[in-house]
Amino acid sequence: MTAPLYRRILLKLSGEALVGSEAYGIDPEILDRFAGEIRDLAAVGVQVALVIGGGNIFRGAGLAAKGMDRVTGDQMGMLATVMNGLAMQDALERIGVPARVMSALKINQVCEDYIRRRAMRHLEKGRVVVFAAGTGNPFFTTDSAASLRAIEVGADLLIKATKVDGIYSADPMIDPGATFYPRISYDRALREGLQVMDTTAIVLCRDHGMPLRVMNINEPGALLRLIRGEDVGSLVVS
Ligand code: UDP
Repeated sequence: MTAPLYRRILLKLSGEALVGSEAYGIDPEILDRFAGEIRDLAAVGVQVALVIGGGNIFRGAGLAAKGMDRVTGDQMGMLATVMNGLAMQDALERIGVPARVMSALKINQVCEDYIRRRAMRHLEKGRVVVFAAGTGNPFFTTDSAASLRAIEVGADLLIKATKVDGIYSADPMIDPGATFYPRISYDRALREGLQVMDTTAIVLCRDHGMPLRVMNINEPGALLRLIRGEDVGSLVVS
């Protein structure tokens, strides 16, 4: 077996990916499948940090569009990510993978507060750490939280899991003629407004040299192949 290429990775999953065949919330089958993929990474010795979005439950911008105060909406969105994090922690622990949810907002009766040094210690001990509540601030996204935490904990790679195989010139689900980019620079992704991550997240990665992979989470085993060095998805670098 090939040894993993990375010691520590941060995987960003969107909340929406958890919906699966449900109309809303979390599809338990999807959750268990993702947990299984993460277990396979941990089993080969990769330290795994996760950021899960909240879009399957609430998004601040969506709530604000219906008249809610934006900051309140964002706080609800952040709390939604905590719920997703707790569900993932539960799914991981059910299959024998120790996990800890660490929240950027203080709700320490349900999970740990985010403390960087403690997070690093969990990772060193082989526990999956789920960074919840985004950055803890309104007007940000969990993409930005993923970049921020990946840089903070010294991840070797940030992986953005999506529904498509990587980065395209246009949405391949809408435009079948869209060009696939196996490798692209941060600046080009920003300039062309490609749907990679939001601008803040890409700029953070660029300014701190955090390599970013965009890959399809619905392809079984792709994550493991990626961390073993296969050229899965698209790579964003300088
Ligand atoms: N959010 C926030 N600050 C953060 C991260 C998230 O206010 O640092 C809120 C924001 O309202 C966002 C929601 O939480 O819409 C859910 O996160 P996101 O939209 O990034 O989830 P995803 O699209 O990945 O499911």
